[in-house]
Amino acid sequence: MKWSSYFLPTIKEVPVGTEAVSHQLLLRAGLVHMLTSGVYSYLPLGWRVLGKIQNIIREEMNAAGANELLMPAILPLEIWQKTGRDKTLEEVMIRFKNKKGASMCLGPTHEEIITDLVKSFIQSYRQLPVTLYQIQTKFRDETRPRFGVVRACEFIMKDAYSFHTNNDDLKKKYDVMYGAYQKIFARCGLQPIISEADSGAMGGRVSHEFLVPAPIGEDKVKDTDGVERPCIEVGHIFQLGTKYSEALGAVYLDEQGKQQPMIMGCYGIGVSRLIATIIEVHHDEKGIKWPSGVAPFDVEILPLQVTDPEVMKIAQQYYDELTKQHIDVLMDDRDETAGRKFNDADLIGLPYRIIIGKRGLAEGNVEIKNRATLAVEVVPKDNAVERVLALTKG
Ligand code: ATP
Ligand code: MG
Repeated sequence: MKWSSYFLPTIKEVPVGTEAVSHQLLLRAGLVHMLTSGVYSYLPLGWRVLGKIQNIIREEMNAAGANELLMPAILPLEIWQKTGRDKTLEEVMIRFKNKKGASMCLGPTHEEIITDLVKSFIQSYRQLPVTLYQIQTKFRDETRPRFGVVRACEFIMKDAYSFHTNNDDLKKKYDVMYGAYQKIFARCGLQPIISEADSGAMGGRVSHEFLVPAPIGEDKVKDTDGVERPCIEVGHIFQLGTKYSEALGAVYLDEQGKQQPMIMGCYGIGVSRLIATIIEVHHDEKGIKWPSGVAPFDVEILPLQVTDPEVMKIAQQYYDELTKQHIDVLMDDRDETAGRKFNDADLIGLPYRIIIGKRGLAEGNVEIKNRATLAVEVVPKDNAVERVLALTKG
């Protein structure tokens, strides 16, 4: 990608009315745009990061034996009345009547919907277990939307659901999901504290929350020294039991031909909350420091003099060679001052940067900068691609 033809609007000043560093950097680095309180657009760079996070989640969910599907966001209220969650979730549910006068809502979560769906297809113990997931926009009219996309009214969630004939089978899948969550968060550059939690409005018994320490965290977690630390909840998994299957009549025939309610688990990740959480953990005073697995691009090529044919020839050569090696490259080919380009590069925080300048080239060298460690290496211009490949693949 060439910056001159890419929609990547950066902002120099700290936007007014923003408390969280992640919120400021999401806006300043051209990742998101606020439409109204709690409602955000993802700009091309932010959408790329979300894509990377979603791919990590997909890979680990598929490896854990879950099948991806997509459920609707427009839901009949009737189904929520069967579990009573039209009442318990009343505060956050966005409701409306359709043209026929039926009460509807926008999906705040999908336990009822998936239970009804699975019920339509499963009759026998032979068809179980089943594990399904989706990555989808959820709608919650939060009382206090806060910290940008951390607590939004429209946000992206990964929600998975498993259906079993017995508790041991549920526990096995729960452990697999628990392991998948550890891998997902590690690949996102996060080390959450895992805490056994209150199941709240979801019902059920065992549940674990995945909590990332950060100053803006709204959950308090005691660390090993007994000190309370603010944490952001990035994921929550539950052994639901039969609460939903009983209320919605999701039953199967067991080996004796007896009707039994399916035993369920559910597993959520705040996909869009993750993008802010990663920034809370990985930044400095100049901007974001993307962990390599979720960076929107792997490398920024920064030619200092875009009107110099030799500088641009080398820049284009690096661009082509790295792209051929499946490295995601952004080239800042804008005719801007070096200061502006360096500041923007620090702000958007790609893991590696190759700086190509007239002066360095005269000596046959370019510079490679590591955004996380701030280390700068001077390398012969003919070795730059090889060096970047070693760094990004290592
Ligand atoms: P919270 O306690 O933060 O309100 P929750 O317990 O209501 O969250 P779940 O229903 O468990 O959330 O949703 C699964 C995940 O979705 C959460 O772990 C969180 O990461 C994310 N999430 C929940 N609400 C929001 C929101 N308003 N904006 C962004 N992400 C959210
Ligand atoms: Mg929760």
